[in-house]
Amino acid sequence: MKKEVLGIAFDDLTRAEAAKAGAALLEEDKFHYVVTPNPEFILAAEKDEEFRTVLNGADLVLPDGIGVVYSAKIQGTPLKERVPGIEFAADMLEALNNRGGRLYLLGAKPGVAEEAGQRIVERFPGITLCGTQDGYFKDEEAALLKVAAARPDLLFVCLGAPKQEKWMARWGRHTGARLAIGLGGALDVFAGRVDRAPELWRRLGMEWAYRLAKEPQRAGRMAKLPLVLVKAAGKITKAGLRSSTAANAVGTLVAAGVIDTPDYWLANYNTFPHLDALLCALGGAVK
Ligand code: UDP
Repeated sequence: MKKEVLGIAFDDLTRAEAAKAGAALLEEDKFHYVVTPNPEFILAAEKDEEFRTVLNGADLVLPDGIGVVYSAKIQGTPLKERVPGIEFAADMLEALNNRGGRLYLLGAKPGVAEEAGQRIVERFPGITLCGTQDGYFKDEEAALLKVAAARPDLLFVCLGAPKQEKWMARWGRHTGARLAIGLGGALDVFAGRVDRAPELWRRLGMEWAYRLAKEPQRAGRMAKLPLVLVKAAGKITKAGLRSSTAANAVGTLVAAGVIDTPDYWLANYNTFPHLDALLCALGGAVK
């Protein structure tokens, strides 16, 4: 079942359900592509009709960012859970490993895809790494020809959005792959060059703050997260404070059903860098 968040129709699946659906796509002898939109995608797609069409035309549309999950909840059409692209990718590697098959990694800076590939085949010996290519090519069609010559079953396309989604929609069916996934910076993570946030941060929906602390240059891009919530909140009719304090913002979020453990958040919000700023932004958004 699809649920629309600000113009993008998301699949409402748990991570396990998404993994099952993805594995089924990998068994079908035709091309499929999967996208993993976060709030930045949603805002970009509002202004870019081609991007919106490409996202909505995917075989699976998975909510990568906690901002998407909050927005859906604020709108009153909650999604089951966040399905991070990197976790879906890991599940697809496992599926490919179980059946045996060929993997191609396209994207990231020179050297990164090779490193990621080495680590992946060490962990999943049933996978054949059939090729890698960095993401800074000039000629899209030449990049395609290299991928197609390697005859992959599964293809990770990691060029950043919207380039990776447009590349998949335009060239994907000529690659011969059964499944392509747009995965942003995932190869940097698989290569061990960028750490993911620790489990607790992820569980609290705070992975974005961890990345912000590690890569402060992302601040401009991340400022868009509250903006998406503000837009989603345009659909709310009841409940809300106009307070700018984090404590009152927690109350607002509880009233709106965004969070359900207020005591925890109130006791701990000042121990997480940036959390008070997020709560204020959310409290302002949920009017
Ligand atoms: N990238 C690329 N070609 C480009 C631009 C970016 O291969 O022309 C890579 C970049 O090296 C990085 C990934 O695409 O590995 C995008 O990372 P970003 O942080 O933008 O993605 P996110 O993880 O936020 O989706």
